[in-house]
Amino acid sequence: DAAASGAGAAADQGAPTIFDKIISKQIPANIIYEDDTALAFRDINPQAPVHFLVIPKHRNGLTQLSKSNEGHEQLLGHLLVVASKVALQEGLSDGFRVVINDGVNGCQSVYHLHLHILGGRQLTWPPG
Ligand code: ADP
Repeated sequence: DAAASGAGAAADQGAPTIFDKIISKQIPANIIYEDDTALAFRDINPQAPVHFLVIPKHRNGLTQLSKSNEGHEQLLGHLLVVASKVALQEGLSDGFRVVINDGVNGCQSVYHLHLHILGGRQLTWPPG
């Protein structure tokens, strides 16, 4: 069906975002990993020496994590494995942080699911 095959935003219950233009290479991004379903690129406003995002190339309704359901389990698992692989590729063998901001209280600004991976310095906890 349209959602499963990753059709456009109309089937995706959310307006297109800047990430769609990064996926289609309409706007440049510093892409550090790509496969059939996931894309990783450096955050334009890095909050740590290494800060990249991992996103699904087909949003499949995942404007935000709280829209997820059992049908997204394989994709969500893949994004986490990609996050870890690319973190190690980026030299983060001493550790890193994975963050998903959800909704208004989570300070989400781009409504296309994305994982933040931050590292390259000693991070602190709790976040703001
Ligand atoms: P927040 O803006 O509060 O971090 P999100 O969790 O939605 O909210 O994160 C969106 C992220 O996307 C931000 O870290 C922002 O710097 C990044 N970003 C926005 N536009 C681009 C872009 N064109 N290229 C790379 N990163 C981008």
